[in-house]
Amino acid sequence: MDTSLSQKPAGELAALLAGKKISARELMQSCIDSVAAVDDKVGAFLGFDEKDAFRQADESDARRAAGNARGLLDGIPVGLKDNISIKDQPLTCASKMLKSYVSPYDATVTARLRDAGAIVWAWLNMDEFAMGSSTENSARKKTRNPWDTSRIPGGSSGGSAAAVAAGMTPLALGSDTGGSIRQPASHCGVVGIKPTYGRVSRYGVAAYASSLDQVGTISHTVEDAALLLGAISGADRHDGTALANPVPDYFGELKKSAGAKSAWKIGVPKEFLADGLDPEVRRQIDAALDFYKAAGCEIKTVSLPGTAYAVAVYYIISTAEASSNMARFDGIRYGHRSEKATDAVDIYALSRAEGFGDEVKRRIILGTYVLTSGYYDAYYLRAQKIRTLIRDDFMRAFGEVDFILSPVSPTTPFKLGEREKDVLSVYLGDIYTIPVNLAGLPAISVPCGLAHDMPVGFQLIGKPLDELTLLAAANVFEKTHEFAGRRPLM
Ligand code: GLN
Repeated sequence: MDTSLSQKPAGELAALLAGKKISARELMQSCIDSVAAVDDKVGAFLGFDEKDAFRQADESDARRAAGNARGLLDGIPVGLKDNISIKDQPLTCASKMLKSYVSPYDATVTARLRDAGAIVWAWLNMDEFAMGSSTENSARKKTRNPWDTSRIPGGSSGGSAAAVAAGMTPLALGSDTGGSIRQPASHCGVVGIKPTYGRVSRYGVAAYASSLDQVGTISHTVEDAALLLGAISGADRHDGTALANPVPDYFGELKKSAGAKSAWKIGVPKEFLADGLDPEVRRQIDAALDFYKAAGCEIKTVSLPGTAYAVAVYYIISTAEASSNMARFDGIRYGHRSEKATDAVDIYALSRAEGFGDEVKRRIILGTYVLTSGYYDAYYLRAQKIRTLIRDDFMRAFGEVDFILSPVSPTTPFKLGEREKDVLSVYLGDIYTIPVNLAGLPAISVPCGLAHDMPVGFQLIGKPLDELTLLAAANVFEKTHEFAGRRPLM
């Protein structure tokens, strides 16, 4: 068994494939061997189709042999969070509700990966319907942090982050509604990007909160993130929210810009460095700021006064939207149907009672409540107004700075089971990531060091559609910090 290939960043693998030093089949075999070697300890994978994976690998090798390789991603395996559709493969959203559902079509991001020659090969664990921060809300299995298997990997894209961190797949996609790419990336020591709202199509991605959901990337390096983001971004006639703005060649531009401008103006929100931030995490964030200062950047304190309301606003808007999006799972058109049901009303009630887990039910109830006439104005409408103020806060700050630097999560990952009874403290852990989704901005989580022996990432938050500056700034840091070479000691 050779599990060394699957550990490598996609950029290195692309060079090995291009130089015909390795084949896509060998690389695929290495990933599958890695899953066999470590996933019983990590639990990141819900499944993969070995035959189909090798079929795709062989097609890639054949293209390359004929001189028709499609680009750097050709032959590179990419795992998908289990809320992204892959034609003729299961899609469960880690819910009992969809335990026997098979996707009739590819999501747009899936189709774009195929167009780039990537191997779409695995479905990765998550919190049920992406509702959670620890992947413990999966109805399928528990995922563990590869750095310390007694701890959570973060969530809701915990399977994607753990799979990349443990070297089982070089690349993965996740989705981020309130932090679900950035927080697990930070907790697992990998790079995660949540693009600008609308940068990436959500067609074929199971909706949680449609005004916040965005698909993004998880990888070992910033260059890999640029490569993957470039492949999945852009307008889509199937998704009216997907923006028509041209997609920069993120990877090419990043290569070109390496060593160019690094004298950015960086904002640090004073509301983010307040109570609740673990001093050990804070130390890592301060070290990152010191690095940028030494590199010639100007650090400015900025104010985001709406931060205090962000978590409350998020849990009104996201649950309202979730209650509507979850309505389709009725046991008739979609989803688990109760065997105990004897009439139509029972089909709805029993199927939903049996099919959804506690967290999903909690959110459906909360979301239905805030949309009820009489409460709508007091909660939902008000939350929408504060959401606008939160976006205004950011835009005001961007009048003075190029991007914002902050923590991703106030703490390092907790132990499995530790916060099961304390839902509120888990909700509050998203304080630094949620405002970004409410404002629709791009952000990247960059590994920067360890605290309590666990990985910590910092977050760079950018202007709308300015992913490129975030990638460039993250790249400058990564090139001198070598975190990408660090792997969990499993
Ligand atoms: N942790 C947040 C929640 O539970 C964010 C989830 C997400 O981004 N999908 O809603």
